[in-house]
Amino acid sequence: MIEIRDLHKSYKMGSNSLHVLKGINFSVQEGELVAIMGSSGSGKSTLLNILGMLDELDEGTYSLDGVPIANLNETKAANYRNKFLGFVFQSFNLINYKNAMENVALPLYYQRVGRKERQEKALKYLEQVGLREWADHLPSELSGGQKQRVAIARAMAAEPKVLLADEPTGALDSKTSYEVMDLIQKINDDGNTILVVTHEEDIAHMCKRIVHLKDGVILEDKKVEQVRAQQYVQ
Ligand code: ADP
Ligand code: MG
Repeated sequence: MIEIRDLHKSYKMGSNSLHVLKGINFSVQEGELVAIMGSSGSGKSTLLNILGMLDELDEGTYSLDGVPIANLNETKAANYRNKFLGFVFQSFNLINYKNAMENVALPLYYQRVGRKERQEKALKYLEQVGLREWADHLPSELSGGQKQRVAIARAMAAEPKVLLADEPTGALDSKTSYEVMDLIQKINDDGNTILVVTHEEDIAHMCKRIVHLKDGVILEDKKVEQVRAQQYVQ
């Protein structure tokens, strides 16, 4: 599903350059649940943003679902992004003046899905994250965990090939974090491919594989005996 070869990325700052990713080799098969772990500043978000076509690589190759991702113009990149990828962020990124249902329906609007079908799908995905009855509530009326579940429903409604989550539990307390990870595990059980960036060991162990980034290289890439989040949720 994802193939990265000899990936390098630097940020230029004036006459200086910061070499953030220093030769990353990494592939992900369909149906995997992968944690990208590492301390703050290790390059996790940089890697995820490149995978998400939100940023460009300097050197190396990237292919997504067999499509080489290189030299795409903005329009093409946006099309691939809409078609292939769903995003979940630490800060939820919901639109404050739209209710839960409208937030979930928004990516479908960009996919030119008609109004009625958008609403039906949005309600279906809200149901899947356990928030059907919260459809007409604004983000300000939802808890942090509920907001993140709406954001996950929004990402899944577009039926992406890969779900990319950057510190999805970073703004949540432990109990709520485990509830969100429980949902992510369930979505993965349905066959969806998911990458979760985290700096937290316990969150990483709720994935099936941990890729450990340090100083711009992969220090370790191992399968783990997945811990179910549900056992923490009391
Ligand atoms: P992580 O997500 O693991 O905390 P990041 O990928 O955000 O790490 O950042 C890796 C390094 O790159 C950090 O030193 C950070 O300051 C730097 N960095 C990230 N984004 C930019 C940017 N747009 N311009 C310059 N430096 C950046
Ligand atoms: Mg980050």
